[in-house]
Amino acid sequence: MNITLIYPEYPDTFWSFKTVLSYISKKAAFPPLGLMTVGAMLPKEWTLTLVDMNTRPLLDQHIQEADMVFISAMLVQRESAQKVIARCKTLGTTVVAGGPLFNTQYETFLEVDHFVLNEAECTLPLFLEDLAQGTLKRVYRSDTRPDISATPIPNWSLVNMKDYATMSVQYSRGCPFNCEFCDIVIMNGRTPRTKGAKQILAEMESLYSAGWRGGVFIVDDNFIGNAGEVKIMLPQLIAWQEKRKFPFQFLTEASTNLADDPELMRLMSQANFHKVFLGIETPETDSLRECGKYQNASRDLVLAVQTIQGYGMQVMGGFIVGFDHDSPTTFDTQIRFIQQVGIVTAMVGLLNALPQTRLWRRLKTENRLLDPTSGENTDGFLNFMPKMPPQALVEGYQHIIRQIYSRRLYYQRINTFLKHYTPTVKTRFTLADLKTLIKSMFRIGLFSRSNVLFWRILLKTMFTSFKSLPMVIEMAICGEHFLKMRKRLLQLRWAG
Ligand code: SF4
Repeated sequence: MNITLIYPEYPDTFWSFKTVLSYISKKAAFPPLGLMTVGAMLPKEWTLTLVDMNTRPLLDQHIQEADMVFISAMLVQRESAQKVIARCKTLGTTVVAGGPLFNTQYETFLEVDHFVLNEAECTLPLFLEDLAQGTLKRVYRSDTRPDISATPIPNWSLVNMKDYATMSVQYSRGCPFNCEFCDIVIMNGRTPRTKGAKQILAEMESLYSAGWRGGVFIVDDNFIGNAGEVKIMLPQLIAWQEKRKFPFQFLTEASTNLADDPELMRLMSQANFHKVFLGIETPETDSLRECGKYQNASRDLVLAVQTIQGYGMQVMGGFIVGFDHDSPTTFDTQIRFIQQVGIVTAMVGLLNALPQTRLWRRLKTENRLLDPTSGENTDGFLNFMPKMPPQALVEGYQHIIRQIYSRRLYYQRINTFLKHYTPTVKTRFTLADLKTLIKSMFRIGLFSRSNVLFWRILLKTMFTSFKSLPMVIEMAICGEHFLKMRKRLLQLRWAG
């Protein structure tokens, strides 16, 4: 059986980091981990070809030569996924679809032949069994939350690792919290399920043996969801890293209660975690309570961020505006907070009602849902009727973006960040890093309007915190991406 696995294209958004990729000579930020894992679950005798459309074009030949096409996508890839499905149908190839885009709204994809939904560990075997019997159904679903310690190691050979800035692995699924807007708990449940230390180390070893060195994104919904298990696993990961002279630098996503646990932060830092993404959402306590984010409402968020930065982990933050309790002053409150705390990568988005979430259900009852979501909360798209006038919300949102991604405030944040950041990451300076440094010196240092700020921070870091230099260069490059996205976002108008 010939199978083509297809990963549709991402639009150019705040999250795509497309501008950054040109500096580091990479084609995409992360590989399609889901499809690589599905690839490892398919019968060994099948011939597999993976086409990640973010790294190479999908040719008709890829579709025509396949007995079946497997497509996986997130909400944000909807447009590209729809085009791929239409192409497959025109060329007469069977389409099998799975992944977050299809999980909650598969009914809207009329041309797809078969859906393998929810967690593939449960539904893919049922599909394969029926395929062998010649009794295929259209939809395979399951509410069972599988034990992921039995999930196979992703098939790394399906991608060209050199195309990617960072590799991905998954250690756990699920999150114990229950934020109203979050679809993670709908998809993966509230009881975090972890792979044991033995299994995650086997994955690290296979990635290492496949030749990977550099960044590894642990793509968990909330890496510290089961902190007890993580504390058992981390010392073994530290020993593994030490033995191989720290080949990987980790980044992940976590909840803000990480700041309460010095032992956990110390272990993460020792294992070479150098970035962590936190869903901060808003400094407005009433809005945090409204969305059920009590773990943030009950703490000093400034202190939490600075504590984590002190353990050598750059905090990247997700922020949201558009809660019912937000007021016209919320926008400036968000700006002040982001600047004060020095979160350089601050992903600010409009509240989005993702299908089947508690928020979506509440707004549906209140008759406030508008269009389906784009799945991308930084594109200025509003899919529900907010309490404040929609135009005021979109303009307030644009005000935040205009301010925080202005060159002056962006570089001001890097300065603030450096005051609280203790660089601990162990990394080697490679030829590729040298090329990136030279490119950034030319492109930002000579040709960008950020040049004065760029040289100033570069020189200051060289003399005061040399170890932070790679992080600062990376931030300067990301700044160029955010500037480009800012320009696009400020052109948006609420259509009414
Ligand atoms: S903490 Fe994060 S992952 Fe967990 S429910 Fe809240 S938004 Fe979702």
